[in-house]
Amino acid sequence: MIDYLDQERSSFETQRRHVYRIAGALGLLVVLYAQYTLLGDTLTPYIFRAIYSLNHILLAGFTVIILWQLARRRVSLEQIERRMLFFFIFQALFFNGIFPVLFNPAPGKVLAETYGDDIWFLLATCTLAIHFYPSWRGVALALGVYILSVAIVAAQVVQWQLNGIDDGSGARIIQIYTLGGMLLGFMLVMASYRNRLIRIQTEYELLAAIAYTDGLTGLPNRRQLYRDLNRLIAEAERYGHAFCVCLFDVDHFKRINDQYGHMVGDQALRAVGDTVRANLRVVDYFGRWGGEEYCILSPHTNVDQAFSALERVRLALREITDVPIPISASFGVAVYRPGDSAETLLHRADAAMYRAKRNGRDRIESESLEGSDSNHLVGLRQ
Ligand code: GH3
Ligand code: MG
Ligand code: MG
Repeated sequence: MIDYLDQERSSFETQRRHVYRIAGALGLLVVLYAQYTLLGDTLTPYIFRAIYSLNHILLAGFTVIILWQLARRRVSLEQIERRMLFFFIFQALFFNGIFPVLFNPAPGKVLAETYGDDIWFLLATCTLAIHFYPSWRGVALALGVYILSVAIVAAQVVQWQLNGIDDGSGARIIQIYTLGGMLLGFMLVMASYRNRLIRIQTEYELLAAIAYTDGLTGLPNRRQLYRDLNRLIAEAERYGHAFCVCLFDVDHFKRINDQYGHMVGDQALRAVGDTVRANLRVVDYFGRWGGEEYCILSPHTNVDQAFSALERVRLALREITDVPIPISASFGVAVYRPGDSAETLLHRADAAMYRAKRNGRDRIESESLEGSDSNHLVGLRQ
């Protein structure tokens, strides 16, 4: 489970790095193109062309640094993402907010800039804040940046009105920011719903994984095996598929514990789990029944097929070298008979296993045929 999560996390990181690299390269081209068109623009006042050029140089320089850091992999991706976010906040507040106020451009021009890119850039920056920071910190950051931007713009509009130069652009600008704010509010609510959903889902999956997994071996536990067994019984009742249940118990396991300690005992239990899993078919169910007992459920399998598979497992156990003394186990097999419940099947497998113990251990026994529907068994053997 943990391995799986680690894999997911690292593949998600690789994906993000890839996306940022492409976005950075494209962004660099856009900035160069914007600078190129600015060079031919003689209508914009000199001071604004200088500010735009400074902005382009900063953007290009920052993008190159980020691309370099992405390639070097020395800085964590999370840190790079936060650097990007703070650069964008700086951009939004200074180049879209404070500089236009300081240099007092015409209201019509500010309006054009607002719906042209300023509001989109601001919303994108706030969205990043929500994504790069967990819960309320992301929300606080996004709202803080948004409110500051609106305050700068509102101050500018008030100034225009005091100076009597507002041509109606002020009201339009405030309207755009209000709509942007509503959109941002909607995104915040959606993001918080999404976070809650993800948390509930993650907690559920984690609980389910813990509830149905054996902590020592990582194999399915008895609870999970019961679920699988009941499903196999339901399938057998419905479709008449044969299947086998096997219980096996490690021989003289107490000796390993007594001679080498519980740590070695635990290691032996894990080695048994790994070995058996590696020697079964993917479709076979295998888990730890408890203590040094394990259970195998083999769907679509008759008793002969079960025997040959278990013989392979039995021999593989003897090859285990992770523990200082040889390991063997005693196996008991039961075949599903119509009308069986989980309990009756397990009872027969258990009885067969104890027979294997009595008959000298390190062997496989099947349930006795006495009292069984032998025709049915013969049928299954074919
Ligand atoms: P037999 O061949 O008759 O099965 O002999 P045995 O010694 O294996 O049988 P017994 O049931 O008497 O001993 C099982 C031992 O397994 C006793 C118990 O302490 C040990 N055991 C059960 N669970 C664990 C575990 O999780 N870790 C370790 N190290 N030992 C365990
Ligand atoms: Mg034992
Ligand atoms: Mg036992």
